[in-house]
Amino acid sequence: MIPASRARLRRALRPSGSLRVVLSRTLATAATLGALALGAAACGRDEDPFAGFTTTPVAAPPPAPESVPAVTPEPPRPGARRRPRRPPPTAGVSPDPLPPQEPVPPAPDAADQLLPEACCSESRRGRRIDAIVLHTTESADRPGFDELARLARYLVRVRRSAHVANDGEGYSSRMVADDRRAYHATYWNISTLGLEQVGFGRFGAEDWRRRPVQLESTARWIAHWARANRIPIRRCEVEGLRYNRRRRVVAGAIVRRGICSHAQLDPRNRSDPGRDYPWDAVLARAREVAAGAR
Ligand SMILES: [Zn+2]
Repeated sequence: MIPASRARLRRALRPSGSLRVVLSRTLATAATLGALALGAAACGRDEDPFAGFTTTPVAAPPPAPESVPAVTPEPPRPGARRRPRRPPPTAGVSPDPLPPQEPVPPAPDAADQLLPEACCSESRRGRRIDAIVLHTTESADRPGFDELARLARYLVRVRRSAHVANDGEGYSSRMVADDRRAYHATYWNISTLGLEQVGFGRFGAEDWRRRPVQLESTARWIAHWARANRIPIRRCEVEGLRYNRRRRVVAGAIVRRGICSHAQLDPRNRSDPGRDYPWDAVLARAREVAAGAR
């Protein structure tokens, strides 16, 4: 765990002139990708949000780097098994007030790192989006855009994805278009949007408190998606979870549309973004942004 230091945050605000050097270094260290493990499961509860944590609007996340190397697709694996078809998740009605819909606030600045569709996404076939899912990558910050570039290459290699990822410096990276299904939460992919936050599920309240620009970025993405998809900005609720013998989710329903932790959707295998994630602060800030606050 390497929380963002003040020095690192200062570097985030510098012009991105050294970015190319940083990205080159990333390429050179691609061999270390194996150490990255997404969504490692610790044990955790999701209630007990971090009381007393308040966010104040911080500087907007840094602009996307001017150039980000394209993510190289790998050839499809011959003979790869197709996933068995399962009944899709259902969703309940949303009696709570919905955020305003028009005009949708602009998405936060994000570097374009769209992952190849062949490996990492598929059509939603018109399915409604019912929830936004927050994750932690279980990987540490690296200066500049380094960690997000590394994450994109890792996801292509393991044929997984998320719609957006962000880091402790407030950079965010668009990886999958919203109208496509990203591979971030197995059974729930078809009806959810996934946001990967560089960091660890084991982060305590103090660790998250040191990451205000990342929490601001997350809140702005939630606000953007909530308005675009009429999703209430509140915790989601899930019922009827069922697993098969291989500990894979095979049934369940989002009975309260909203913002979910990965842990809620797959509690046997995942605990991210962790028990100390500051839900109250992030959702309060997202409501502010969705209501028009800057
Ligand atoms: Zn996750």
